[in-house]
Amino acid sequence: MKDFLIKRGVKIQDILNVCPWCNREQERADHVFFNCNFIAGFSKRIFNWWDVGWKVVSNFEEFYSLCFKAKILGSCKSLWLIAIVASCWSIWLARNEMVFENKVLSMDTLIFHSKMTALLWVRAAVEECRIQERLGGFVCISAVFLNRLQQVGAFLHMDG
Ligand SMILES: [Zn+2]
Repeated sequence: MKDFLIKRGVKIQDILNVCPWCNREQERADHVFFNCNFIAGFSKRIFNWWDVGWKVVSNFEEFYSLCFKAKILGSCKSLWLIAIVASCWSIWLARNEMVFENKVLSMDTLIFHSKMTALLWVRAAVEECRIQERLGGFVCISAVFLNRLQQVGAFLHMDG
């Protein structure tokens, strides 16, 4: 059956929905974003980047509360949360590239993408704050962050 499908150009990965990182477990949102060993290693590196203690989490709620409890003060907290959402976003984009375009992405590439995305988002958020200030509004970085979070959240829910 497998050979039959491969001969006809059907990718086995599409049928079995195997996790693109480890190629072992079934691809489910909680696995692809949190439980997979590869992704856990990735998250640990992102947390280390911010000097925040990492703990293994098994779903979005646990991850969310771990991120919010991070001991980072003041406006840095907003930057940290932006960086975290950027890393989730990068995981999602990388996952799509691997599944739909057959690209292979290394851990270092994924880390690099995440940091670049975080940088761009922070810059956009700061810019947006400046505009809001000029307009007399009180919208701050966290509003922009929440918007991104909703986008990532929508993707997570889409996947089950
Ligand atoms: Zn996996």
